[in-house]
Amino acid sequence: MPTALITGVTGQDGSFLAEQLLARGWRVVGVARRSASPNPWRIAHLLDRPTDPLELREGDLLDLGSLIDLMREVRPDHVYNLAAQSFVPTSWRQPLLTGDVTALGAARMLEALRLGAPDARFYQASSSEMFGLAEHEPQDLHTPFHPRSPYGVAKVYAHHLTVNYRESHGLFVVSGILFNHESERRGNEFVTRKVTRAVAAIETGRADHLTLGRLDVKRDWGFAGDYTRAMTLMLEQDAPRDHVIATGRCHSVQDFVSRAFAVVGRDWRAHVRHDEALLRPAEIPSLRGDPAPAHRALGWSPTVDFDQLVERMVHADLDRARRGLP
Ligand code: NAP
Repeated sequence: MPTALITGVTGQDGSFLAEQLLARGWRVVGVARRSASPNPWRIAHLLDRPTDPLELREGDLLDLGSLIDLMREVRPDHVYNLAAQSFVPTSWRQPLLTGDVTALGAARMLEALRLGAPDARFYQASSSEMFGLAEHEPQDLHTPFHPRSPYGVAKVYAHHLTVNYRESHGLFVVSGILFNHESERRGNEFVTRKVTRAVAAIETGRADHLTLGRLDVKRDWGFAGDYTRAMTLMLEQDAPRDHVIATGRCHSVQDFVSRAFAVVGRDWRAHVRHDEALLRPAEIPSLRGDPAPAHRALGWSPTVDFDQLVERMVHADLDRARRGLP
């Protein structure tokens, strides 16, 4: 049975990826950092499977020794490095931690791979935030990076180091530059989930408004489950190559808000307030990726469009709110 090792398994993407690999008959080992109060709600159903459940091991991207031990003990065929301090606004408040986890954490993972499992294939979770204030649209592998947050800068370091380990050490390591992808498992603080949770709270009478920053910012939003499929496809190719994964369509935050309120038959303008305090120190006005090269090379294309994504997230949050779930 082939084995996959996933860091960040308790996060949005880790949970979808683990689910997909288990369904395909892989042994999946997830890395979780020690917490005083663990809350693995996204993967609870995978840990409870009667046969071949998801295995959890303790490890931390800040601790190289734990990562080398993991590589040697688990002997993975594929390694997915999805762990990161992944929330852009936090990266201004905690830039050093973001650099340590998101940039140097990837360096530790690559070192652990080189020392402990050099024959394994390795996926690095890179981000469209690296393009930042991009010179042209749509962005592709040839677009220069101009990151606009400590998070974006950290991801640029991790991306370049991944390429460097491929070129220097001949390892099968790839960087997937993924545009925003969302789901009902997205962290509560991300804007899409903030919106769909607020719609559910308003609809069930527990809130009457939602406070947001800029509404004109545009992003290329896809469904997380589609994007984790692309990660696996990248590791299944004959040769290691980086790819941009995107839908090729972009929508504003206002489009997302308006669509989310429309799902429950409400006009968003009656419920949304603006707060200057939520503006970022440096914003990226628009991001849109070119999905054509990945489609040609990997046969990948998204299966969930923007409207379906918003509907799916609103219905999931409504269901949770009506059942009184946190
Ligand atoms: P997420 O939900 O925020 O998950 C992040 C994961 O990293 C969590 O499992 C978290 O563990 C773990 N983690 C944080 N610090 C760690 C440390 N020091 N040691 C070990 N694990 C640590 O992120 P996501 O949305 O699934 O994204 C997955 C990856 O793709 C991230 O690297 C993200 O930056 C990148 N990415 C995401 C998107 C997107 O739109 N979602 C786009 C491009 C790239 P805890 O549960 O303990 O906090």
